[in-house]
Parts: sequence; structure tokens; C-alpha cells
Amino acid sequence: MRIDLHTHSRASDGTESPDEVVRAAALAGLDVVALTDHDTAEGWPEAERAAREVGIELVRGIEISARHDGRSVHLLAYLPDPTYPPLLAALQLVLDGRTARLPAMLERLRALGIAIDAEDVRRVAGDAVATGRPHVADALVRLGVVADRTEAFRRYLNPGRPAFEKRYAAPLVETLRIVAEAGGVTVIAHPWGRHGHQLPDEATLAELGDNGLSGLEVDHQDHDAPTRERLRAIARNLGLVVTGSSDYHGLGKVDHELGCNTTAPEEYSRLLERAAEAAAAAGRGVPVLTAG
Ligand code: AMP
Ligand code: FE
Ligand code: FE
Ligand code: ZN
Repeated sequence: MRIDLHTHSRASDGTESPDEVVRAAALAGLDVVALTDHDTAEGWPEAERAAREVGIELVRGIEISARHDGRSVHLLAYLPDPTYPPLLAALQLVLDGRTARLPAMLERLRALGIAIDAEDVRRVAGDAVATGRPHVADALVRLGVVADRTEAFRRYLNPGRPAFEKRYAAPLVETLRIVAEAGGVTVIAHPWGRHGHQLPDEATLAELGDNGLSGLEVDHQDHDAPTRERLRAIARNLGLVVTGSSDYHGLGKVDHELGCNTTAPEEYSRLLERAAEAAAAAGRGVPVLTAG
């Protein structure tokens, strides 16, 4: 069983439609794939149709932009009821924050002499529900300012670079509670990703576990081998589920091919058990997966 629990489509900042992501997952030999767009469940229905057609199991997820102790935390929420009003409201605040920061980023780029406006971003973002820095990057590529997203982030969009602009993120502990009430389970995405830091530390992760967190995404391209081993040990100590995934963004992220990291079948079973428990505790039925 090959299980990849973290991918993105054009509903957020991936470059393929939900249908294309699911078909690509089947072609990559995956048995289970989760679609986890940033801050939206918009891609789910299309992904479910594709999953039924190609005979792959789809896990419905959302990667929620959260914050804790002043740091950004990406929270993977699996199988929540997307119509639960407090969850919808929490996501809407993040989506509004995404939209609200775009003009400021474009203004900063114009101050650098780059002729870019909202229409340039809209053209590349298409009907994405969650717009973000990757779309600004795509607009810069299209305008010929940079060669690819990587260069756009490095030169303009990363923290500390001239066009970076903060945005709202959801308070983590409250979000853990809301997802649980919606009958879902939560996993912290790339907990120590990209910046080389080792935060949240074990004490903080323990506290998050006490607040309903179910797992840690240990096997992720942003983690080197020693980082993975440390996080795996922490997950074991705290009884948290260990997941692995590609964080696939189509052509939008290099070195994140579907299935490049996977989740062990036993860990996936534990996650589904927790989902069933969460659903029962929230007075909801056990979530149904798209039959493979
Ligand atoms: P935002 O949420 O709009 O601030 O943008 C963050 C998104 O940018 C994340 O989903 C990352 O996947 C993506 N991202 C960050 N750095 C890079 C990079 N160097 N190349 C491509 N995508 C990136
Ligand atoms: Fe992304
Ligand atoms: Fe992420
Ligand atoms: Zn992601």
C-alpha cells in the first residue's frame, strides 16, 4: 500500500486541477492520496469523482494556515465536515487575509520598478480559492521577471525579501478544537520544515497532543534525515501518528513528486481510527472514504 497524505491542486497553489492530481496519483502507483489544499475544501468534489473513476482511495483534507507562539504552523486537517460553521468561519478569515495582503505585495513590487497589478495575479491564479505568494511568483514568471517560483521566492517573496508581506493565520489551539468538533483529525505538516529550527519543541508538541493533535508529518522533503529521526522519536514518545507525504504542487514545487515520501499502512490505520473516534466524540458518523 502506497499512501501519500499531502497534495495541492489549483484550488490553492498547485498547478494541476484536483482531477489531474488524483489521476497523477494513480499513475504514480499510489493506493491512497489526500488532497490538502491550503485553507479550502473546494477541490474535494472533483477529486472524489476522479478517485472513484481511477479506483484510488481519496482522503479529504485541508492544510490550514495557523500560528502558535508567534510562529507559522501548517495544520493538516483530515476528514472534517467542511460545512461546520465554525470551521467555515475560521477558513474564511484566513482566505480574507490572503486576499487582503495581495495589494500590499504588489505595491512593494511596483516600488522596485516591476510593472505588476492585480490582473496579472488573477490571470495566473485562475479560480484558485486560496491565493498566495506562489501566485504572485507565477505572475512574475509570466512577466519575465524571474525564471521560476524558486527564484521569485528567493529574490522577492521569502521573509526578509522586499515583497514579503505577513498575513493572518488561525490560532492553532482553537483550530485543533474546531477541527475535532467537525469530526476531523489533525497532523502538523512539516513541523520543523525549511528553516532548520527545531520548534515547536517536544514540550509544545506534548501540549498540542493534549489539545487534540493526532500526528506529525515526519517524512517530508523539508526534513533531513537527522530531523526525521528526532521527530519520529518525539512522535513515539507522545503517542502521535507518524505520516509521510510529498506535499505535491504539480510543477509548482521542485523535488516534491507524488509518493516521494509515504505513510506506513499501520500509521494510516491509526489515523483513520482516530478519525472514527473524533467523529464519534463529535456525535457524527464515521467518515466514509472513497472506495478504492
Ligand atoms: P503563502 O501561504 O501565500 O504565504 O505562501 C506559502 C506557500 O508558498 C507554501 O504553500 C509553499 O508551498 C510555497 N512556497 C514557499 N517557498 C517556495 C519556493 N521556494 N518555491 C515554491 N513554492 C514555495
Ligand atoms: Fe503550497
Ligand atoms: Fe505547508
Ligand atoms: Zn502543503
